[in-house]
Amino acid sequence: MLSRKQYTFSHQFAYMSDDAKREIRRAILKAIAIPGYQVPFASREMPFARGWGTGGIQITLSIITSEDRLKVIDQGCDESVNAENIKRFIVSVAQGVTVTTDTKEATIIQTRHRIPEELMTTAQILVLQVPYPDALRDVEPSEIETRRMHAEGDYGRMWVSLYEDIIKFGEIRASYRYPVVVHGHYIMDPSPIPRWDIPKLHMAETLFLFGAGREKRIYAVPPHTTVNPLEFEDYRFRVEDFSGKHCVRCGKSGAYLNEIIESETGSRKYLCSDTSFCTKRMREELKHHGSTARC
Ligand SMILES: [Zn+2]
Repeated sequence: MLSRKQYTFSHQFAYMSDDAKREIRRAILKAIAIPGYQVPFASREMPFARGWGTGGIQITLSIITSEDRLKVIDQGCDESVNAENIKRFIVSVAQGVTVTTDTKEATIIQTRHRIPEELMTTAQILVLQVPYPDALRDVEPSEIETRRMHAEGDYGRMWVSLYEDIIKFGEIRASYRYPVVVHGHYIMDPSPIPRWDIPKLHMAETLFLFGAGREKRIYAVPPHTTVNPLEFEDYRFRVEDFSGKHCVRCGKSGAYLNEIIESETGSRKYLCSDTSFCTKRMREELKHHGSTARC
């Protein structure tokens, strides 16, 4: 890996050459024009191991400007090792870029495994890191065949696999990477976000960009695009049920919760997965109680 000093001496803003960034931006534009379609691109070597978000990093580096405020999350957390490393790298190669943990303040958010709880706006872009870009891969190993299936909307095998899930397990099992239909045509892998986050993709204000570095694919969900989870009339899609549960840190519900099992007692407790949202709610609660006490 290059040292930070070497990055600093590079005259190239945002690490990649202008040609490389331009090529990725062209792929992004094509992806936006054909929502849910996987656009091949020449994935570059990054100073990160493949599988650590190189697709997302390349998208972020291609669109970022020195005025941007960047937030990076991993499993909803701003402070994970992967998120911190990506932030440190991008800030070191893109002068002027600042980082934030506040979803509302960020202009670009790069993420793995979660969409932030706070509603994002039209002025923001969410970049998702994708390990497996093709939702059909589990039912068809051949790339040539899946491309034909996507082009012709030949999704019978996908529906059969979901039906088999219901026959065997009584429900569609996918808890992450729940397949969705984008703009009434392409079946898309929404990256390993939980079911909880799927409805946030539907008719959103925000542009969602998906980057798979190892698989060399970029795809997108533009603002105001329909994104519908696959479901049957008698087996509807449903999000995780957190009713009756609340976060032990902020004391609230209404967010995606991580379950923690105490090793000694075996008891379960829950924490908001979106750490900055949790902190914000905690501060609001404190402020509220503070003002009540003063009254
Ligand atoms: Zn919380």
